Amino acid sequence: MPSEPGHRLLDSFKLRLALLSAGIFAIATLLSFSYLYRGLATALEDRMDDSLRTEQKEFADIYRSGGLDALRKEVAFEQEANGKDEVFMRVFDAKGVDLASSDLSFWGAAPFTPGLTHEAPSDDPILKTVHVERDGSDARCIRALLAPGLYVSMGYTLRENAALLARFRSQFMNVLAVMLGLCALGAWFVAKRAMSGVEAVTHTAAQIAAGDLDSRVHLHGHGYEIEHLAETFNKMLDRIAVLVAEIRQISENIAHELRSPITRIRGNAEVTLMSCKSLEEFQELTGSVIEECDGLLALVNTMLDISELEGGVAKIIREPVDITDLVRGTCELFQPAAEDAGIQLTVNVESKVRTQGDGRMLGQVLVNLLDNAMKYTPRGGAILVSVARLPDDVLIAVKDTGIGIPPEDLPHIFDRFYRGSNSLSKPGTGLGLGLAKAVVNAHGGRIEVTSTADQGTRCSVWLRADS
Ligand code: ADP
Repeated sequence: MPSEPGHRLLDSFKLRLALLSAGIFAIATLLSFSYLYRGLATALEDRMDDSLRTEQKEFADIYRSGGLDALRKEVAFEQEANGKDEVFMRVFDAKGVDLASSDLSFWGAAPFTPGLTHEAPSDDPILKTVHVERDGSDARCIRALLAPGLYVSMGYTLRENAALLARFRSQFMNVLAVMLGLCALGAWFVAKRAMSGVEAVTHTAAQIAAGDLDSRVHLHGHGYEIEHLAETFNKMLDRIAVLVAEIRQISENIAHELRSPITRIRGNAEVTLMSCKSLEEFQELTGSVIEECDGLLALVNTMLDISELEGGVAKIIREPVDITDLVRGTCELFQPAAEDAGIQLTVNVESKVRTQGDGRMLGQVLVNLLDNAMKYTPRGGAILVSVARLPDDVLIAVKDTGIGIPPEDLPHIFDRFYRGSNSLSKPGTGLGLGLAKAVVNAHGGRIEVTSTADQGTRCSVWLRADS
């Protein structure tokens, strides 16, 4: 259900898509950043560790070549060169007694952190990051053996590394904010463009709802999916327009078909009422009213039958139907009328052919086809009814040598209430072939009519053969 105007922006697909894209982009970028950040931090730490190991080796060389005095000078030199809060150095013996050390006042307890002193369980080099209370920074330290019973522990501040990483983080956040904005904006525009197609469809639907049934969606350059939606929507509208036109046509036809008999009934009643005196005349009127009502009832029932069959709600009995008997029986009914009309009615039926279906309805199809053949075949003509067994189907054909159907009428003869130009002087409602087609289709069969003007007509019905 569409939301109220106030909530439209929040419910908007464009906004959701923009937020979703920005969210996915943010997560992907954060993951990449974390990976790069860890790589950078590890590289910086490795570089610091390499420096500490090199420094420790230099100390060992200096001790070997110049003894403790040379070491003391080196410690003093290093402190001078780097600053007492940048680096600390301690040379001590196995009891922990300092033999040479820089000014440790800035470093507090950091140089004496477990692992960096003479109490460390192993003589192997130990690398460690320690916290410096004084300024809250960290330092990377090494404790290593210079010579038997002689140790060095030294540490370099990590302040520079921390500052570098902090700069990296803040620059990343700035870049991320800009990229997020651009991404959300881009997604918004893409969604807006895509949605403009959907909005065009909605707009057209609204116009149709307001009564403009001829409205159509015109879209170009919106991408295949949206254009396909518009095309399908237009096709649906065309189909609805055809159906509406059909319904309108059928309503007009029904009104037209009902008006003549009702007018006749009313006219007869009026004349009888005004002029007649005798009971016989009233009886005659009643008889004609009953006759007209029967005709009307037949018309209404046929219309209902067609609607139910086409709508798939008709109750069709499925039972074996002997087509041979059905055709023979129906033709026998028509035989007297054919003789009266001077038409030769011949039946050509192969032995026992059956189908599954509703015998009464299939009989009605035959009656309609034979009725037409009789109606449109002049005296002296012939009608041939044949039944043939095909591999899967039963073919019933009603062929006449009548007046035929003009080519312009042929495409419409199955339409409800359609009457060809050849039928003007003949009785009928234009529902006979419509009902026949609806029944045959409901039985899963097929009906076709071929005709040549002035030569005759052939109606063929295929039904599934019952083995
Ligand atoms: P109708 O009540 O007019 O016969 P149908 O639905 O049975 O209505 O037939 C539709 C139209 O098809 C007829 O009006 C007629 O023009 C044409 N038609 C049907 N069958 C034949 C036929 N055997 N020969 C000539 N025209 C036919």
